[in-house]
Amino acid sequence: MSSLEISNLRKSYGSVEVLKDINLSAESGEFVALVGPSGCGKSTLLSIIAGLESITSGEVRIEDKLVNDEAPKDRDIAMVFQSYALYPTMTVRENMTFGMECRNVPKAEQAEAIDRVAELLQIEHLLDRKPGQLSGGQRQRVAMGRALVRDPKLFLFDEPLSNLDAKLRIEMRTEIKKLHKNVGKTMVYVTHDQIEAMTLATRIAVMHKGVLQQYDTPNAIYETPANLFVAGFMGSPNMNFLSGRVVSTGGKASVRLDGTGITLPLDGVRCGVPADGQEVILGVRPEHFSPAHEQRAERKGRVSISVPVTIDMEEPTGAETILMTHIGGQEAVIVCEPDEAPRPGETMEFAIDMAKASLFDPRSEARL
Ligand code: ADP
Ligand code: MG
Repeated sequence: MSSLEISNLRKSYGSVEVLKDINLSAESGEFVALVGPSGCGKSTLLSIIAGLESITSGEVRIEDKLVNDEAPKDRDIAMVFQSYALYPTMTVRENMTFGMECRNVPKAEQAEAIDRVAELLQIEHLLDRKPGQLSGGQRQRVAMGRALVRDPKLFLFDEPLSNLDAKLRIEMRTEIKKLHKNVGKTMVYVTHDQIEAMTLATRIAVMHKGVLQQYDTPNAIYETPANLFVAGFMGSPNMNFLSGRVVSTGGKASVRLDGTGITLPLDGVRCGVPADGQEVILGVRPEHFSPAHEQRAERKGRVSISVPVTIDMEEPTGAETILMTHIGGQEAVIVCEPDEAPRPGETMEFAIDMAKASLFDPRSEARL
């Protein structure tokens, strides 16, 4: 049984279509991250699942039941908003019991739920405070707590961490992951942060301009992005896009990189057979370059090819060093270990792990 199934969903505001034929389903207990840049339609999609927005066409099913025409309160979902939406005049306890009061949950059951959730989120000591007396992180916990006092079919989160500072955001990210493990419920989580999506989700739905670009496991999205948008959006620093042209000789295909005089055999690359002369974009992630003398990629039994790289600038982050470089006339960003980073101005050989590279069609932008 699918926990959530969205079929051929479209949503327009007037003449503007903001969701275009979305198909997506989640199994029971999955953590689905909806990720994409601001304005791509994530919140609209979440609000449609919640029943807060109407559907233009298509179907939404929760546990196999069509809910298109069901009111939000009848869908058995709990939602956490970006703004937290806490009642300022109520205490934390009142904020958390309010929904249960409205549903006429017996007092003893309410108290039990509060105890359970307050312990889970470590907010026992905050129950008698008002939201104004809480820090951002504490407010965020209370907003989560209000959703967790219920035992709904589906939890929906809309950027619940985006109002927190960077350090707290990472801490809360871990907490949410633990929470999902403990509660075991299906969760749909909206974020514009690709790292949040990668670290939390069992499956990621990457959206762009109202279109679902790819829906797959974090690993598959990272390793085999479906198109240039997904490839560029997921991963930091961004994937390098090197332009070139296919050269086929004796049944073997290579890519000649524009403006470099470098030809890279496509032996190890996971791609179809591109046509001779076809323009392509070779996608290489910054961490898939390694100093050629190291030959790390080859030691793992992969095909790697060395290219001369000139270092323009370096950005040490502590754990790793980011190198701004160029290969012939093309720019590339490389991540390497701090103690193996060459100096700016130097040119040295780097090996590209071709087994991890991707090939794209510059016209359709799709993976080849
Ligand atoms: P995201 O959450 O990914 O940032 P939204 O789902 O909020 O994006 O918005 C998607 C698009 O729909 C945006 O272009 C936004 O301007 C538009 N939009 C959202 N709500 C409305 C509305 N009530 N009326 C008109 N346009 C809207
Ligand atoms: Mg939004």
